[in-house]
Amino acid sequence: MIFIYGTGTSRLITAPLPTTTCAHCGTRGQLSVTVFSRYVSLFWIPVFPFGKLSVTVCNHCKQTLTSKEPLPESYRLPVQTVQQHAPRRLTNFALPLLLLAGVVLIVVLARLGPARPSSASAATVGSDDAGVTVGARYKTQPMAGTRGYALLEVTRLTPDTVYYKTTTGLLGKPTAASVAVALRDSVPPGAERARYPRAMWHFLVEGQGMFRPFVATE
Ligand SMILES: [Zn+2]
Repeated sequence: MIFIYGTGTSRLITAPLPTTTCAHCGTRGQLSVTVFSRYVSLFWIPVFPFGKLSVTVCNHCKQTLTSKEPLPESYRLPVQTVQQHAPRRLTNFALPLLLLAGVVLIVVLARLGPARPSSASAATVGSDDAGVTVGARYKTQPMAGTRGYALLEVTRLTPDTVYYKTTTGLLGKPTAASVAVALRDSVPPGAERARYPRAMWHFLVEGQGMFRPFVATE
């Protein structure tokens, strides 16, 4: 394999030098300096930076000097100061960052890939519909600081999905009659907006889930 390597530059910052006098025309406050980062590249992509290059320009006489040649004595301190405060550029590390991103992507894909359940028809670890049936009712667990509760009734089942309706917040002891009324009025007929993956149903009704199986006592 052939490696194509080289060097490049990228601009980091341009700043005025307000207190420096041009060594060529003697005008004060018209100088500016631009700091470039030099980097090593592989296939034209930056690998790492290896130093800085500064270019001064006088806006009055247009004299341009680079830090490759010795700058006038009076330029050195202000130019050095700008150089030291120039921001770092992550793009000068583009290749290692790209490689790192590629490795992270491969690791993530390897973890997600084969184990990802495509649908509820595939028997996967953790799939459990908790024996849900059409007509099954559930009640919210008591919530801190409130006596209100809500009811849920399963209206339709498909291999993938549990469709259900829920009441708004209810108060008072739930009786068979009040529950029937509350559920009847909870959702317009035919509106099945509430749904949940069947294989994940146990998350909703067991363990830390929000709902518990419920049967009206009278
Ligand atoms: Zn000048």
